[in-house]
Formats: sequence, C-alpha cells, structure tokens
Amino acid sequence: PYDVLVIGGGPAGAAAAIYAARKGIRTGIAAERFGGQVLDTMAIENFISVRHTEGPQLATSLEAHVKDYDVDVMNLQRAEKLVPGTDHVAVELANGATLRSKTVILSTGARWRQMGVPGEDQYRNKGVAYCPHCDGPLFKGKRVAVIGGGNSGVEAAIDLANIVSHVTLIEFDGKLRADDVLQRKLRSLPNVDVLLNARTSEVLGDGKKVTGLVYENRIAGQRHTLSLEGIFVQIGLLPNTEWLKGTVELSSRGEVVIDHSGQTSVPGVFAAGDCTTVPYKQIVIAVGEGAKASLSAFDHLMRTSAP
Ligand code: FAD
Repeated sequence: PYDVLVIGGGPAGAAAAIYAARKGIRTGIAAERFGGQVLDTMAIENFISVRHTEGPQLATSLEAHVKDYDVDVMNLQRAEKLVPGTDHVAVELANGATLRSKTVILSTGARWRQMGVPGEDQYRNKGVAYCPHCDGPLFKGKRVAVIGGGNSGVEAAIDLANIVSHVTLIEFDGKLRADDVLQRKLRSLPNVDVLLNARTSEVLGDGKKVTGLVYENRIAGQRHTLSLEGIFVQIGLLPNTEWLKGTVELSSRGEVVIDHSGQTSVPGVFAAGDCTTVPYKQIVIAVGEGAKASLSAFDHLMRTSAP
C-alpha cells in the first residue's frame, strides 16, 4: 500500500504529493484530469511570485514539479468509492482497480455551475467569467453583469463595483437571497442596478468577445438586451464530492468538512482545496492547503504506523 495517496491533480493535489514525496514515503496521485481547473483558465496573475502565467502553462509546471519526485502519477483515473478500514483506506477507481493507502488526501476540487445558455461556452474567458477575485481587474472601467443574487453574487457585485464602471446584478427570483447586510451595502452603491425576475437567455458577442446579454423579464415576458463587456456567473460552486457521500462528512453544500489541520471525519483521510469547507477558492490557497494536509498525513503516519 501507499503511505499517502492523493486523489485529484489540481494545485492542492500537486502540492500534497510533493510534500509527501519529500518525506521519502510511498506516494501516489490519481487524477481524472491532471491540472484541474487551471487547465480551463487563461491569464493567472494572482499566484504570488508568478507575475503572469497562463493556465495550461501552470498545469504543465505542476505536473513537471510532481514528476521531479518519486511519485506514482496515475492520470485519467477517476475515483468512485472510498472505503475506510482499520489499517488502510481503499479507493476504488472507475477502471475497476483498487488502490490502498495508509492515508488518503482528497483534493478533487470543484466546478462552477453554468447558466447553460447559448454563447456561454463560446465566450468563456472572453468576457464570461466565474471568479471575481481572479478576473475582476481585467474589467477595470468596463460594464459587467453578475448573474445570481445569493451571497456570492451580491459579494461579487459589491467587489466589482469598486473596479468596473457599472454592474447589473441579475436575479431569476423575485428577491435576492443574500444576507441583509450585503443587500443594504449593494443598494447603497451608485453604480449598481439590480434586476429581479430576470432570466438570462443568451450571451452576445462579436465572435471574439462578449458585447452583451439578453434577458427575459419573467413577469412581463419581454426580452431585453444589455450592452456590456463582462458577465460574472455566480450561481454556485459544486464540489466534486458526490462519490464521497455517506463515507466522509460533507457540509450542506457538499464540501468535505475539515479541521484546521486538514483532517476529515475519517481517521487517516485528509482533504485540501476547493472540495473542502475552506473559504476562498483560489490557487494560492489550494496549494497551501495541499501542503498542510500532506504534513498532517505525515504526522498521522508518525503516530500510527510501525517504523
Ligand atoms: P481543482 O483544480 O478543481 O483540481 C481537482 C482535481 O481533481 C483535478 O485533477 C480533477 O480532474 C480531479 N478529480 C475530480 N474528481 C475526481 C475523482 N472522482 N477522481 C479522481 N480525480 C478527480 N484561481 C486563482 O487563484 N487565480 C485565477 O486567476 C483563477 N482563475 C480561474 C479561472 C477559471 C475559469 C476557473 C474555473 C477557476 C479559476 N481559479 C483561479 C480557481 C482555481 O483554479 C481553483 O481554486 C484551484 O484550481 C483549486 O485547486 P484544487 O486542486 O482544489 O482543485
């Protein structure tokens, strides 16, 4: 069996694997798609000390860094089941194989819920964005819409209002669901409009970038067009944890519940990054969390296994 088996090959998993391998213990990493969300990202300018990189380039560096060490890299492997045991934890893969390890680090990340309307895919990273902390500065002085009136949508609108010229917040329902204090802050801002009962139905573009969106007023049934340069979709971040239901404690949002050291509810199983309850889903945070979970796994091994 492995000493440390990492499931997920994004920034959190890569950091966990490197930290484990540097302790000279048997380390494996299985990932459905090595690189994770970073592969779908264009410019990255907030991974501290790397002033600018592109997603695919960072993904290549993550993999190269892991391969500098003695790590079993199992790419294109999807974990389907976690089976806790007394002296090891088993992970069943979609290909039928079972991997065994003394400790497991879950780092399966998350995905943004999409609107599923025409133009969204075509203009992703060309005006359609999901992360205000990442892409907000690209829209300095421009007009944007935020889709979704929950806490994350309203927080995004408040945040963006500082940077962009104008924000239109679009909510499907007849009222915002965000906390009152956020709603009050939002309504105090001069450059924010809120549209309720509005269903976004299309992303418009000129072939290269976003130029606007179409929404339908659900009460009057009329369609309207807004001219703008950016659309931030804030209708939910879905952790890739469906396969863990019933074995590891998950939050109401499906995030793996961890303590300050990255320990989950199952002894010997740790977790890191976007799939966990840790707030703020960012590369620099995922990397730090991966390192922390790995050091916690090593500490667990020191205390529980024979030398
Ligand atoms: P992920 O990157 O999601 O990696 C998860 C890994 O787990 C992948 O390898 C995946 O294939 C694998 N996996 C999932 N399920 C399974 C399974 N069942 N079995 C095996 N493997 C599995 N952050 C920034 O800091 N700066 C930015 O500029 C930035 N821009 C972004 C732009 C976009 C378009 C997106 C989508 C995200 C952006 N982010 C940015 C967020 C950042 O990418 C994430 O916070 C970060 O990648 C999280 O790392 P992670 O390792 O936790 O998860």
